[in-house]
Amino acid sequence: MPPPDTDASVAVLGAGIVGLCTALSLLERGVPVQVIDRGEPGQETSMGNAGVVSPWSIVPQSLPGLWRKIPGQLFSHGRPLSIHPKVAVRMIPWGAGFLKQGREAKVRRVSEAMSHICGPSIELYQKHLQGTGHEGLLRDSSYIHAFRDGSRANLTDLGYRIRSEKGAEIELVGRDRLSEIEPELSEDFQAAVVIKGQARVRSPGRLGRVLADKARRLGANFVRAEVTGIQRRDEGWAIQCVGETLEADRLVICLGAWSPGLLESTNLNVPLMAERGYHVEFSDPGIEINNSVMDVDAKVVASSMEGGVRVAGHAEFAPIDAPPDGRREARLVKIAKAAFRDLQTDRPSFWMGRRPSFPDSLPMLGEVPDHQGLFLNFGHAHYGLMMAPKSGDLIAQLICGEQTNHKIDDYSPCRFCRKPAKPDAS
Ligand SMILES: Cc1cc2nc3c(=O)[nH]c(=O)nc-3n(C[C@H](O)[C@H](O)[C@H](O)COP(=O)(O)OP(=O)(O)OC[C@H]3O[C@@H](n4cnc5c(N)ncnc54)[C@H](O)[C@@H]3O)c2cc1C
Repeated sequence: MPPPDTDASVAVLGAGIVGLCTALSLLERGVPVQVIDRGEPGQETSMGNAGVVSPWSIVPQSLPGLWRKIPGQLFSHGRPLSIHPKVAVRMIPWGAGFLKQGREAKVRRVSEAMSHICGPSIELYQKHLQGTGHEGLLRDSSYIHAFRDGSRANLTDLGYRIRSEKGAEIELVGRDRLSEIEPELSEDFQAAVVIKGQARVRSPGRLGRVLADKARRLGANFVRAEVTGIQRRDEGWAIQCVGETLEADRLVICLGAWSPGLLESTNLNVPLMAERGYHVEFSDPGIEINNSVMDVDAKVVASSMEGGVRVAGHAEFAPIDAPPDGRREARLVKIAKAAFRDLQTDRPSFWMGRRPSFPDSLPMLGEVPDHQGLFLNFGHAHYGLMMAPKSGDLIAQLICGEQTNHKIDDYSPCRFCRKPAKPDAS
């Protein structure tokens, strides 16, 4: 293997949490980095998430039997799932791929790949935050999955079995114990599964700003520009931006849900959907939530953040630039009020973000074949906050020619490409 070329410059396109963690892992290795984003670092999708950082979020979205629940989610009153007519045609292959993943053997394989990148999330964030003065942004937490119908809370579901087999500490609790752990939660919740040993970020937006400041201190050059295209040069890459062209020896595409737009010339199949999600945040909530709490029926996660109580979730497949669906604000407020009776719900702020989602719940990580120096790091779906530090580190390892300590084929940029046709046997 050639010696690591740490003098070669790297442009990280996109300063969401994935781009920022990638930049930090490169800077740690002495690689010169420029980070290009049209907006402020960390203030898109990475700003409004639910803040869960979990080594145990290792269960993909598609599970056995899920197809039976989809009509209920599409048509129930709260509509946690929706599909915009303009993406219905694209959803057919994506949905077929998604449902195909929901077999136990596939779930287990994806889970193994997820555990490699979610597993070290807490330690890696602690390392990135070290010395910033903002170490308290990350708090210890459990993840409480709360059920109104107590009979539905059980540890025999595949997702909980997988977590337990991999070493998670999980407890099934009844209503009395649940009200000791989360006194503000409505008494309607009869039972919960408590997953221990996790963390939560108290302000995902401030985390982005703090990590960007650290990257600047380590020498990163942040460029505010809209990227419109990339082009291979004899040596390195040209990055076309509105009003200027930038250059770098290597590129890492970390543009979240916007990434496929730059890959049209590569012949890769990139079935990425913008799976939009929402939050409402109550700045004067009058209550404190001790952990990350999922209302399993309503498909939302609630957490006390620096800015108040945030309730985040829902899955809306829609064109990336469609305006937010304003009806969701009232729905989320109603869900929040039903889950936490004493919550003050005056003047909520309302936000929409775009999860970059592949059908198999895994990101695309690695170098594009036949495009030397073009690396991908996007598609982290529901798990981007927790997967960002390890996936950034893996890309830095690849760029610096280091041996990665586990198999990365499961995240391959080519995994959705048609296999070459078999030679004709006749
Ligand atoms: C409601 C909700 C709740 C969630 N909760 C959690 C959670 O609790 N835990 C968890 O781990 N994950 C969670 N997620 C998922 C997580 O937020 C995402 O996976 C993650 O933020 C994706 O990060 P990113 O850096 O890939 O994308 P982004 O944060 O979207 O960053 C992409 C960046 O690219 C820039 N960009 C795009 N196009 C261009 C261009 N042409 N030129 C220049 N710049 C460009 C954007 O400005 C942006 O800064 C949640 C998501 C949602 C929506």
